Amino acid sequence: MNENFILLILPFVYGACVGSFLNVIIARVPSNLSIITPGSHCNSCKAPIKYYDNVPIISYFILSGKCRSCSSSFSAKYILIESLSAALTASLFFLFGLTTTFFIYTILVYMLIAITFIDIDHLIIPDSFILFGIFILFVVTLAGWAPIPLKSSISGALFFSLFLLVIGFIGSKVLKKDAMGGGDVKLGFILGSFLGFKISILTLYLSFIISAVVILLGLVTKQISMKTTIPFGPYLAAGTIIVLLSNRIDNENILLDWYYSLVF
Ligand SMILES: [Zn+2]
Repeated sequence: MNENFILLILPFVYGACVGSFLNVIIARVPSNLSIITPGSHCNSCKAPIKYYDNVPIISYFILSGKCRSCSSSFSAKYILIESLSAALTASLFFLFGLTTTFFIYTILVYMLIAITFIDIDHLIIPDSFILFGIFILFVVTLAGWAPIPLKSSISGALFFSLFLLVIGFIGSKVLKKDAMGGGDVKLGFILGSFLGFKISILTLYLSFIISAVVILLGLVTKQISMKTTIPFGPYLAAGTIIVLLSNRIDNENILLDWYYSLVF
């Protein structure tokens, strides 16, 4: 087997384990429950899940997605989140190696996975994520690990959040309902500060395109109506993750390079 391939197994397993913890966060943070105690248990029969049945991804297959005590089914969402986290961690390791950029990007990705699934279920982005983001930003800046200069970080944060604020304001006038939650604006502030001004424009562009495509598909297939409240967090997450995967270590972006080469 190729030795580079073997090297990716470790970040994959690490990502799967983080994904397992993200499942706990997603299930408990919106209800303000502790993410430490009690340990993992079956939601139907409350039986604790033994450590040997709590191996990310693998246990789901061994138990065929069912509780060992009561045989009720576990949601496929658990394995989806573990696999997503594992695949993205391995991809970022492949792109950036063992660098501070890898660690910062994986933390952002983990935060965005949790936000996506909470926003879909509850239509909120809990403030604890925003505070966590600010904490990471603070540590990264103090340690001198920031992938971009401070000036770019500030302009990115202001641009990203103000843009969402303005779009939300216009949207609420046009649609006569809340179009952009305060959580989206706050998340925009965090994302913009990590991405910088130029990459923030690209991220917003991608997020709005993806949301437009998904919403149009939803309307055409009658899965949603004009009255449906659509969480925007998942689109910000999708746009950001595409951008992180196409960023280079010098914080230039291959999608932007490609766009410039077409236009100029
Ligand atoms: Zn059970």
